[in-house]
Amino acid sequence: MSDKLFASLQAELDERASAGLTRRRRLLQTAQTAHIQCDDQAVISFCSNDYLGLANHPDLIEAWQRGAAEAGVGSGASHLITGHHAQHEALELALAAFVGLPKALLFSTGYMANIGVVTALMGRGDAVFADKLNHACLNDAALLSRAELHRYPHNDLAALEGMLKTSHAPRKMILADAVFSMDGDLVPAPELLALCEKYDALLLLDDAHGFGVLGAKGAGLLEHFDLKSPRIIYMATLGKAAGVFGAFVAADAVVIDYLVQHARTYIYTSATPPAIATTLRASLKVIEQDYGRRAHLHRLISLLKSGLQLKRWQLAPSITAIQPLMVGSNHDALALSEYLLTKGLLVPAIRPPTVPKDTARLRISLSAAHSEEDVRQLIAALHQAEKELPA
Ligand SMILES: *Cc1c(COP(=O)(O)O)cnc(C)c1O
Repeated sequence: MSDKLFASLQAELDERASAGLTRRRRLLQTAQTAHIQCDDQAVISFCSNDYLGLANHPDLIEAWQRGAAEAGVGSGASHLITGHHAQHEALELALAAFVGLPKALLFSTGYMANIGVVTALMGRGDAVFADKLNHACLNDAALLSRAELHRYPHNDLAALEGMLKTSHAPRKMILADAVFSMDGDLVPAPELLALCEKYDALLLLDDAHGFGVLGAKGAGLLEHFDLKSPRIIYMATLGKAAGVFGAFVAADAVVIDYLVQHARTYIYTSATPPAIATTLRASLKVIEQDYGRRAHLHRLISLLKSGLQLKRWQLAPSITAIQPLMVGSNHDALALSEYLLTKGLLVPAIRPPTVPKDTARLRISLSAAHSEEDVRQLIAALHQAEKELPA
């Protein structure tokens, strides 16, 4: 039995390998920042989601050490037993105030937050409407909830309205990435909210890539669009621009109170170490107060956009730190990524099934940890690649 099972697993792995789709983990040998050593090579990394360069910030490292000295390293229990530390509580209050919603709730990861929210609030007979380019965990959340899942073409409001109009489900929820993770473009949140009003739906916005980056004070998508509504359930991760780990959901008080009682990924898991919450409060302080850091990131984004004058490949329209260079074929995207690596520049090629067929791309992510010179090097290498790589 097990021989047969193992043989079939191996056959699938072999098939994946012969299609050139095997995924491999790179070995990071230094701290997470812009200049790293990876697989024994010194490179400038354009891969990470550490958009503000906080993952290695001295104030955060100090807070982590202080947090551990004061509260120990383990939480010891779930939030509903004895794991809910004063540090978690203080962070929740600070996050809710920062994004301008009544209450916030910490989750261990963004993946768990989305699963928890959708499965708690939606069930059999309800209807979930999801953008086709949403992050995988929103799809998993919808499937696990057992609600009907309607997927609409990317940012297609007319198609979405058509689906909402014909639904008779008692509870409806629209799920969308706030910043699409492989495209960098924004969700038309005000228009989605108007549809929620018209068809009595809730709106779950996943701001994994906007929190810390968008808005004058870095509060993310809601600040960017100046949006506020009891229909909004806002989720953001804390392992990307915030530089640490975790996620939170902010919403109307009744929604948060309901999640504490019903979100299974909140209830049946250990609380994250309180020192992480201590560190995240230090991160929030830098996000709120160090305007220069966000301004530097936005200068680098403009520099890349104005500096790239390529004929073969174009940047997708994006005002965020995610700047995808559209290439097309899997082979060309890989060849370009490998070429850049020979110049000491690490930029990942993203291929199907992560993105739709024939839209392989380089996902360039910029960070406040980059210098202008780093970005100029990338621009020069891409121009050289256009000349040197066979068309
Ligand atoms: C990274 C990401 C998540 C998952 O967050 P984690 O905290 O890493 O689990 C969820 N949604 C989107 C859009 C993401 O990019």
